[in-house]
Amino acid sequence: MGTDYLSPSATSPSYEHPLGSQLISSGQFTIYSPYPEEDFRFKGQLHCHTNASDGNNTPQEVVETYRSLGYDFVAITDHDLVTQDPEVPGILFIPGVEESSSSGHILGIGVQRQTDEMRPNKVIGHIQEQGGIAIYAHPNRLPLLGGWSLGGLLSNPGACSIEVLNRGTNSEDKWDSLLTRGYQVWGTVGDDYHMTNSIIKNTNRWVVVAAPDLREESIVAALQNGHFYSTEGPDLSVKVYPWGMTVSTSAEATIEWIARGGVKRKVTQGVKEDSYFIEGDERYVRAVVIRESDKKRALGQPVFIE
Ligand SMILES: [Zn+2]
Ligand SMILES: [Zn+2]
Repeated sequence: MGTDYLSPSATSPSYEHPLGSQLISSGQFTIYSPYPEEDFRFKGQLHCHTNASDGNNTPQEVVETYRSLGYDFVAITDHDLVTQDPEVPGILFIPGVEESSSSGHILGIGVQRQTDEMRPNKVIGHIQEQGGIAIYAHPNRLPLLGGWSLGGLLSNPGACSIEVLNRGTNSEDKWDSLLTRGYQVWGTVGDDYHMTNSIIKNTNRWVVVAAPDLREESIVAALQNGHFYSTEGPDLSVKVYPWGMTVSTSAEATIEWIARGGVKRKVTQGVKEDSYFIEGDERYVRAVVIRESDKKRALGQPVFIE
């Protein structure tokens, strides 16, 4: 645990529990779980660029590339611009944007209009007023390149997610800092590629969403409510019980269980399934699946414990 972490009560904003969360009571503690009854099934990309901003390919080429890789939906997030739907059949297009702000980049998913506003809390508000979701983009990138300081995140609450894995950066430490302080934010991932060549050749990151159907409203609502997991490759499924939770995945993996302060409460190697018994003082628990063959990660969303 670093000095980064305050005691949770010190700065906890009074967040409502996420919409659609499931409440499980054990008698000793209550678990707020975002895990839905539906299976995770829709593969989507939440961060990519086209030649409408600083990318090299047309929106049509980008969306066709994701379709060829088996994606069910894609949100194009050009800089400060909501790019028009190129109307590629066979894949759902969700309009998006990557807004600049004075504290760091902010992704907006499911929006119709960009804004010139630079104050981060106003940008987040502008995205949410349109029914979209706001995501703090790549926090651990350099501030000059749109990254976020922890102070910037803490003083601009309200985005429902944080982009934990982006091309070269892992921001799990900042996610844990927010969760430890009581901020209920989901973890997303994104390619942030600017060329279709990179999309095809390089490691990709995507979300897998549990939603009743593949419509924009359903996907955006599921993202808002944490009904998804984020991955660089491994799959995962989660079951939550009054005593704790079980994670399973299809290839041998190390499964880590992370709680308050970013502390690994349990690490199990060489398994396809593992369970965690909640003690009650975790504040939150999230699972990370690290596939043994290639060390690629899948991130489950946190459950919150009171
Ligand atoms: Zn960015
Ligand atoms: Zn970007």
